[in-house]
Amino acid sequence: MFRTLRLATYASLLTLGGLAASASAAELKVVASFSIIADFAKNVGGYRAEIATLVPVDGDAHVYEPRPADAAALEQADVVLTNGLQFEGFMSRLIETSGTKAPVIEVSKGIEPLKAAEEEGAQHESEEHATAENGHDHGHEGHHHHGEFDPHAWQSIHNAKIYVKNIADAFCQADKAGCATYAANSEAYLAKLGELEAEVKAAIDAIPQDKRTIITSHDAFGYFEHDYGLKFIAPESISTEAEASAADVARLVDQVKEEKASAIFVESITNPRLIEQIAGETGLKVGGTLYSDALSGEDGPAATYIDMFRYNVNTIKAAILGS
Ligand SMILES: [Zn+2]
Repeated sequence: MFRTLRLATYASLLTLGGLAASASAAELKVVASFSIIADFAKNVGGYRAEIATLVPVDGDAHVYEPRPADAAALEQADVVLTNGLQFEGFMSRLIETSGTKAPVIEVSKGIEPLKAAEEEGAQHESEEHATAENGHDHGHEGHHHHGEFDPHAWQSIHNAKIYVKNIADAFCQADKAGCATYAANSEAYLAKLGELEAEVKAAIDAIPQDKRTIITSHDAFGYFEHDYGLKFIAPESISTEAEASAADVARLVDQVKEEKASAIFVESITNPRLIEQIAGETGLKVGGTLYSDALSGEDGPAATYIDMFRYNVNTIKAAILGS
């Protein structure tokens, strides 16, 4: 339906403006680093923008390895959109090698970043990994490439609105003739995000306080926790680069028992094996799949940001309340 609308709008503009009919020539070529930002960009850009996405649906941006086509897409872009907060480890080198002249916009600009959870090993480098003898069981092996802040800011709808405004600003800068269109599109989309936010808050409010601790595979839901009041615990940190160690898993299993976690979920972007193991050891049944860092394909349940959020909340609610 969306597509039909878009085409209809485009066709009427062509008639009004008497422009040469060239349906494929978008005014603005946009490259988005991953699927969630691409969805925001599609909503803001409408028929004027053509959006290419680097990390595909169901892909993991933390460990993504660019393809040659990615550099080519960047080279031709008018605008490049990234999350920032060191989410896309592959990005800065790719931008450099592509030689793109396009502005690179960090769409998380202006959000209030949350500190990455204190991890043992966060002091890294200088200190050799301490052993369990000193009472600190140092979980994650090796060095992390993530930064000081949690990059998964889109898991707050409040932040998503800031992303959308940043994208609209960037598009206006790059294509002044389209500015009114981008403004109108973003207004309409922001209104939908406002409705979604109210719906999510109401859904979480219906979950009893003592049932609000749940488990996922990596720390991707810090902003969700902060805004909506669920507690997420995970065996892996804010990046999926380092695998959880046996000590991480053992600690988590203890924590699950102490805090009486209500539900456990796999994530679409990560291997379910670890979560299945923890489910086995804690006696919790896996409550479904959550979408943290990527949308699903068109036929999946999380093909857009709004669908993703709604699906995650419904999945969580159903697993906890058994409905
Ligand atoms: Zn992540």
